[in-house]
Amino acid sequence: MFEAAKTILKQLFLNPATNLFPAKYAPASTIQFLDGVTKGELKLIPPVPVPPGFRGKIAYDRENCTGCQQCYKICPTRAIEWLPEEKKVKIFVSRCCFCAQCVDVCPVNTLAMTEEFLLANYDKYADELVVVDSGELPGAKKRKKSDGEGAETTAQQD
Ligand code: SF4
Ligand code: SF4
Repeated sequence: MFEAAKTILKQLFLNPATNLFPAKYAPASTIQFLDGVTKGELKLIPPVPVPPGFRGKIAYDRENCTGCQQCYKICPTRAIEWLPEEKKVKIFVSRCCFCAQCVDVCPVNTLAMTEEFLLANYDKYADELVVVDSGELPGAKKRKKSDGEGAETTAQQD
């Protein structure tokens, strides 16, 4: 009994373990709230940092992609669409289960899991949820046009 009372009293003076993100009280309209944050009228309580190795929204360096299709073939949720004309891929984040198998299998490290996790949207085909090109990714093995990677690689350069 004494131990329980001690614990309860201690809790009264501790900060809550939860992070009150994005604001102390849930806003009536998140969109209006975020507008206010953008204009500097409202303050956002920042999210806690994500842990190392966090698997958030996928990123894709289109230029570096060799078109080998390995990511497309391994994806368990069919989140990756193969574009035969361009010999590139397109990723639908709304279908992605964040398993990172495509990242692991890509031979030129042209896919990566980012720390981005604010992905809620009413439209699953919104621009932010369809990844076509995220630009250069740090750590990618750059593909050189003249390094003789084979016919498949050369063919998709046109
Ligand atoms: S992370 Fe997994 S589910 Fe998402 S696109 Fe890659 S293979 Fe598919
Ligand atoms: S595995 Fe990598 S190089 Fe191959 S198609 Fe997918 S993104 Fe492009």
